[in-house]
Parts: sequence; C-alpha cells; structure tokens
Amino acid sequence: MSEVGKSAGPTRRSLLRGLAATAVAAGAPALLPARASAARRTTHDVVVVGAGFAGATAARELARKGLRVLVLEARGRVGGRVWTSEFEGARIELGGNWVDPMQTTVWREIEQQGVGMLADQGAERVVFPSGNGFGFLAPEEAFGRQGELLARFAERSRELFPDPLDPLARADLLRAPDALTVLARLDEMGLSALDRKWLTGATGGLGGSSARAAYTQFLHWWALCGHDAGLYYGINTYKPSGGLGSVLSAILAQSRAEVRLRAPVASIADDGRRVTVRTRAGSEHVAGAVVVAVPVNTWRCIDFAPGLPPEKLRAADQTIGVPNAKKFVVHLGEGFGNTYVHTPEGYPVDTLVPLQRTSRGWLAAGFSGDPALDVNDPARVREAIRLVVPDAEVLAVRGQDWGADPHSRGGWAFRRPGQLTGLLRPAQRPHGRISFATSDIASGWSGYVEGAMESGLTAAAQVATRVAA
Ligand SMILES: Cc1cc2nc3c(=O)[nH]c(=O)nc-3n(C[C@H](O)[C@H](O)[C@H](O)COP(=O)(O)OP(=O)(O)OC[C@H]3O[C@@H](n4cnc5c(N)ncnc54)[C@H](O)[C@@H]3O)c2cc1C
Repeated sequence: MSEVGKSAGPTRRSLLRGLAATAVAAGAPALLPARASAARRTTHDVVVVGAGFAGATAARELARKGLRVLVLEARGRVGGRVWTSEFEGARIELGGNWVDPMQTTVWREIEQQGVGMLADQGAERVVFPSGNGFGFLAPEEAFGRQGELLARFAERSRELFPDPLDPLARADLLRAPDALTVLARLDEMGLSALDRKWLTGATGGLGGSSARAAYTQFLHWWALCGHDAGLYYGINTYKPSGGLGSVLSAILAQSRAEVRLRAPVASIADDGRRVTVRTRAGSEHVAGAVVVAVPVNTWRCIDFAPGLPPEKLRAADQTIGVPNAKKFVVHLGEGFGNTYVHTPEGYPVDTLVPLQRTSRGWLAAGFSGDPALDVNDPARVREAIRLVVPDAEVLAVRGQDWGADPHSRGGWAFRRPGQLTGLLRPAQRPHGRISFATSDIASGWSGYVEGAMESGLTAAAQVATRVAA
C-alpha cells in the first residue's frame, strides 16, 4: 500500500473526525454527534431512518438547507454496509472498501475532508483455473485474457448504456436484455469450458449467482467504468487512509443532526400533513417529512401507513442487495505471498484480494456466496481456501455474513432480471411525505458508496421541496 495523497495538518475538524472514528470502532455513541436527549417524543423538520452513507448524506444536505434533522439508526454503530473495524492489529473493512476517481461525489468528499488516500499495490501473482485445477499466472497475463472475455461478455454496453448515469436512456432497447440472467448470457456465448471458468471467476460472485444476477447490471457497471477492462479492474484500488467509516462519521458530524443509535424503526405513518415515526422501543418522532435510508431488502421490516405500493414491495421481496453476500478478512501465513485468487462459480470462496503484508504473512479480503461457509471459523475458511491453494495456512479470520444481518438482509446491490426496466423508477419514487434513499435504488453507481451518496442527495432535494411547500 502506498499513500497517494497527504492529509492536511491536524485541524480541529480532523481531530473531531478522529474522535468520531474512535466512537465507531468502539461502538461508543457518547462520542457521536448526538445531543444526548433521550426524549420519548420529539418534533423535527425531518427524520432520517438509517445512518449509512445514504442517510448521512441526506442528513447533512438537509441541515445545510437549515432544517432540523433527527437520525434514527437500528445498530449500535453508524455506517451500515460500511463497517471499518480492526483485526490482527490492522484497520479493515468488513463491507464497502474501495473508491475511485470515476465516483466523483465520494472522491470529492474525501478530498474535501483532507483525508489521505491509500492505493493497493496489486498482486504479484494470481491463481486462476487451469485445465485440471488451478495454476499460478502473472497478473498481466491473467487479467489481460480475462479482460478480453469480459469485453466480449459486455459487447452491447455502449449501445444499451450510452449515458450510464441515466441507465434508462435506452429503455426502448433494454427490455429483452434486461430479462436475461448472467447465466443466460454465458450460455449464448458458446465458450470453451476453460473460458467459461475464467469468466465466471469474474462474474459469478457479483450478483450472488449467475442464475440470480441480471445481465444488464453487469453491463451498467461496465459502462460506468468507461467500457474498459483496465478501468473496471482499477475500481478496487483506492481507499481513504482512515477507512470509509471515518469519512461517514465526518459527514454525520457536519450535519449536526441528533443521531440515536440502537433505535430500530418499527412503523412510519403519514397522515398527509405530518409523519410519525415509531421505534421498536416505543418512542415517537414527528416530522414534516421522512427519508427512509435503509436497504431495500429491509423495507418489509417497517410497517408503513399508508402501505407501500406493490412495486416497492416486489423489489423488497425479490431482493436487490445480494442475499448471500459474505466478506471476510483472513490472515494467511507467509507462504501464501502477495497472491490474488479467482475461482470459477461454485467454489466456497470466489475471490481473495491481497491487502497488506504483516509480520507473519498477508492479510487478504475474501468474498463468498456459499450459505454453508462460516466466515468466522478459521478451520472452515482454511478448508475452503485449500480447495484452491492446498498448502495455505490460515492464522485467523474475521468475517461478516451480510445476508444474515437483520439490518441489511443482503450485501451490495446487484439487480435481478427485469428490475432495471420494471422496478427502478417505482422504487425511487417518494411515497407521500416519505422519500427513499439507498445505494440499492441509485441511478448511477448502485451497489457502491457513490450510489448511496447520489441517492441521499436526491432524497434531500425531494424533501426540501416538500417541507418548503
Ligand atoms: C461486502 C461488501 C463489500 C462492498 N464493497 C464496496 C466497495 O469496495 N466500494 C463501494 O463503493 N461499495 C462497496 N459496497 C457497497 C456499499 O457498502 C453500499 O452500497 C453502501 O454502503 C450502502 O449504503 P446505504 O446507505 O444505501 O445502506 P446501508 O449502508 O445499509 O445503510 C442503511 C442503514 O439503515 C439502518 N437500518 C436498517 N433498518 C433500520 C430500521 N428499521 N431502523 C433504523 N435503521 C435501520 C442500517 O443499520 C444501516 O445503518 C460493498 C458492500 C458490501 C456488503
């Protein structure tokens, strides 16, 4: 890892940010920007439900417009699917990790906060499928060939996504391709057995499985990356030096919103003039408008009155966040080296990305969609990695099963067939005085922190108009 941008000196703001980041790591709400009132009944201009990147961005934007904002967060920490933590003496990310200059909102945010950026150095060798198992290759050779396969896989991206920030610009052409799964597209390509393994190494885990994932979601990401394999691989390179959690904490601190942790919302009732939000513990919060900034997969967990329209319920039932997404950070023995691993679909670990050297070996981020893999059990993770690298030594592991987490019920967003053309616009639409914000329904970088920020800004603009009316 190398530092590509130097942070500003220790300004008051960066000290505050440091404090907030400590609070996130330790789960200590006292250091969060909350005014510690625990009133059972409050009145604000806006209530934001959920303190992930979408909710935090919306809260700050609304505060900038002079509105008084209350943020209610179910967990004992902020960040949602971004979870900066510690493991084996290193700062790690158990959810969102990398950002890229093409993701202009989050990139500018990090620059404005004066945070340094770290760049992963990349692997020295990769393990890819070979004719009879797995083999070590030079990264240029492996990614060069896989990149060509990906470009073939995505060959209609320019025609279907001429403006990737407006994914329905060619809605007239999208209906048939949007019905396809990734699996259907693989089938129609007529690939050799080995090429298919190489391609599913890149596409298999993205949407949970090739049978679940919409082909158009991959095309959309490819278009966002300039239809270019180098830029596509490159989006997992840069990360803010203090972790994404500290970036989010700084946004929340700037919002000056009252933030209540461990406050899961149970119901939201809109009587046409004002909205009443009730937590599971029974406290009641009244506002002129509400931003629901929770994952789509959890919309059914809140009781809305009037009830949500059928398209929104369908999106929640179908899931947008990948329901079987698991991530872990594993400490591997020295012999593993600076090695990147891609397996074909069906293996319990689909990718291992080397992160940094330690005194005893390497830390790597692993991804899995296997419902049976316990990503916190070193023995099971060792067994899974040894299917690919037989002598791998696992020293320790820490993971997160995002599908089993009741406050996300899934990982990053990856749409299913038909959702882009049939459900995206209805999922984005406000419902009376309630607006919705989450990366899952972003027009642009859905599935990324950038999409969460885009969606938070959109919801804040909708709410500001409504509250002013
Ligand atoms: C394993 C993994 C890896 C990823 N890697 C990257 C990456 O490298 N780069 C990248 O840009 N993105 C990545 N992402 C995606 C990125 O993390 C998400 O898109 C983004 O963080 C989502 O933000 P959000 O605000 O939409 O939702 P969330 O972060 O899920 O925030 C929603 C919040 O709502 C809260 N909530 C839920 N229900 C309630 C309730 N009833 N009452 C109150 N609060 C509630 C939740 O606790 C949560 O804090 C990754 C995601 C995962 C899971």
